Amino acid sequence: MTDESLALLRQIVGASHVITDADASIGYLTDWTGRYTGNAFAVVRPGSTAEVVDVVKVCAARGISICPQGGNTGLVGGSVPPASTITPTIVLSTTRLNDVGELNVVDQCIDVGAGVTVAEIARRAGEVGLAFGIDLASRDSATAGGIVATNAGGIHTVAHGNTRAQVHGIEAVLADGSVLRRYKALAKDNVGYDLPGLLAGSEGTLAIITRVLFRLVSPPKHRVVALAECDTASAAVELMSAVRNAGLGIEAGELMTAAGLDLVAAQGLPRPLASTKPFAVLTEVSGPENVAALLEPVLHAVGIANAVGEEWPARRLWAVRESHAEAIAASSTQLPVKLDISVPRSALDAVLTELDDLAVAPYRAVMFGHVGDGNIHVNFLDVPADEQEPLTDSALRIVLAHNGSVSAEHGIGRAKTSWMSSRGDVDVAAMKTIRAALDPHGVLNPGVLW
Ligand code: FAD
Repeated sequence: MTDESLALLRQIVGASHVITDADASIGYLTDWTGRYTGNAFAVVRPGSTAEVVDVVKVCAARGISICPQGGNTGLVGGSVPPASTITPTIVLSTTRLNDVGELNVVDQCIDVGAGVTVAEIARRAGEVGLAFGIDLASRDSATAGGIVATNAGGIHTVAHGNTRAQVHGIEAVLADGSVLRRYKALAKDNVGYDLPGLLAGSEGTLAIITRVLFRLVSPPKHRVVALAECDTASAAVELMSAVRNAGLGIEAGELMTAAGLDLVAAQGLPRPLASTKPFAVLTEVSGPENVAALLEPVLHAVGIANAVGEEWPARRLWAVRESHAEAIAASSTQLPVKLDISVPRSALDAVLTELDDLAVAPYRAVMFGHVGDGNIHVNFLDVPADEQEPLTDSALRIVLAHNGSVSAEHGIGRAKTSWMSSRGDVDVAAMKTIRAALDPHGVLNPGVLW
């Protein structure tokens, strides 16, 4: 069966874009964390929407499962197929859907193929004095389709919202091969259900996204980046409010801990502040030309005495924050336990203390993240494999007890499927009805979400 299917797939996308060689496939079959390695009889790389349609039709007719993949930077195992499966599976890589269409300056939008990277979208927007509302440390690999499919957040969510808020229009191939296309650059359009919004965060289980019409934003003229130390996480939240109340804009607000800064320093990026406090907050603030001078009294007003500032883009300060994921991966003796939680900002101190208490030696906890959104990436290092599940369980129970979410921005993937029930029975049933209606035979990314 697979031989006949391979022949058909080669006819559609060209022989060189159907990869079956084990060495050539490995990069598509193992995820960024190294925790998930899957099995597929081929990696298929279509070069157009029409080719995606034909690939989907071949798979649907033969009961072949499809794992859509963009930049493979996802952190919950959804971008690679399961390790063992009874249904034959392909990885459908979107990296060749990489053409950039029209960038309309008046409508402030850009049309891109699903495989175009976040960095490329930002570069194109920057060329005409605009900006893309999404930015994340994986920008050089993460793709348009991937950020929509995961509803990625990133460092500017606090200013512009998550990826769903950037989507004007979408083109996607459904499980039966039909093409859904809503592609209008309208600020308001209430004709029926918000299907592009539904596909945002669907993690490859409802459709294969082939093109996206993204809105672009006007970047602030003046920005300053400050790294300040503080005693509590709530002081960082207080700083965000104080900045806004002073009439300045928050472009990003990132929390780090002393443990994380030490880890990054050990990897060669020295601490920007010789700090003794448990937390540090990185804020990117916009305002008039003298924004740096205006920020200073705000820092003092919330009791922050020790801070260092740099003009945007402040690459040195941002590098310290963005090196956390790599530093954690390099330092842990075991694959780190990675959780991506959000809690009401009022509960932040309590939750961080309770999570930190779980890291009894020899475990280590390193937490960092988008404090402006109440979103913290929780990492437990050096946890033996058989102790990871119970630790995850304890940590996520703490989060739910404080009315938080077990997945703020990375999604559920294969890693967190048992926590879908945290949505409640009726909610889960409604989601399963949608899934069954759009993909009745479960062709798209089986094992992800459910
Ligand atoms: P992939 O990893 O390839 O896929 C992710 C999911 O989307 C999978 O379920 C896949 O099946 C599905 N998918 C991919 N493309 C399509 C498509 N065209 N159609 C349908 N389904 C598709 N995430 C954040 O939200 N915020 C961050 O700040 C952030 N920082 C990160 C920093 C680092 C260093 C790394 C490694 C990751 C980070 N991530 C972050 C996670 C990751 O980059 C995002 O989830 C990103 O959106 C994934 O995009 P991708 O193209 O790599 O998708």
